[in-house]
Amino acid sequence: MKLIIHGGFFSESSSSEETKIAKQKALSEIVTAGYEYLQLHTALETVTYVVGLLEDHELFNAGTGGQIQSDGKLRMSASIMDGESLRFSGVINIEDVKNPVQVALKLMDKEDRVLSGPGALAFARQNGFEPYNPITPQRQQEFEEKRNQQNNKGTVGCVAMDADGNIAAATSTGGKGFEIPCRVSDSATVAGNYANKFAGVSCTGVGEDIVNVGLALKVVTRVTDGMSLQQATDKSFEELKQFDGFAGVIAISNTGEMYHTDSHPYMVWASFDGRLQVFN
Ligand code: ASP
Repeated sequence: MKLIIHGGFFSESSSSEETKIAKQKALSEIVTAGYEYLQLHTALETVTYVVGLLEDHELFNAGTGGQIQSDGKLRMSASIMDGESLRFSGVINIEDVKNPVQVALKLMDKEDRVLSGPGALAFARQNGFEPYNPITPQRQQEFEEKRNQQNNKGTVGCVAMDADGNIAAATSTGGKGFEIPCRVSDSATVAGNYANKFAGVSCTGVGEDIVNVGLALKVVTRVTDGMSLQQATDKSFEELKQFDGFAGVIAISNTGEMYHTDSHPYMVWASFDGRLQVFN
């Protein structure tokens, strides 16, 4: 069993040592709780559970504490992919729910599996998701000061391999902050979140860059075709360099390889496979 999570990028210019320590602590606690959960649950159940914990944590840019778009609204995107059934489900630009990843899970057994905006919200309400305001005072203040533009990235993601060797991935985001209303991030696309029987990947970074190279699906495809996880990821990151792309990934392959990398320092992450590791 393996578990790896990320909490997006750490911006040295806009974050303090205190924030770094708080993120290390939060990621360590969540990955440890997630690994315990994985003992008795599938990879799919575990990635949903873990991303839900990350969404609930105000330090990260997903769910509660997500970043606000340029019209003052917080729209969130999240997706899940089950590597065993090869099903992808997600919500794009949903408002006023607590856990977008749980709405994505509800969609997994439906015929229509990726919903956006008002349609996603209507589906959530029909399925019992109560109104919830995820905007924290901190994010509101940042929005008002208009200073969270390219920094403070903190999308969240999780990849898990369960006791049966099945892999799943989930990713959730509040977006870039100050984007044009309803801009679509990579997080609820196969560029930002993908898994099959061979590997699973969750991305963070600039959504447009991640979509440009189809990052998550590309890494998984390369592993499926025989590359090691590290080779597949590093080769795909070479392609980002063509346009100075900005991304980070966490990944697990069915050979038990666990890998993370980023194109710019640095993504915050933690992993557990009997041993806890956390970014430094
Ligand atoms: N990938 C997310 C987006 O482009 C942002 C992030 O990962 O921080 O919306």
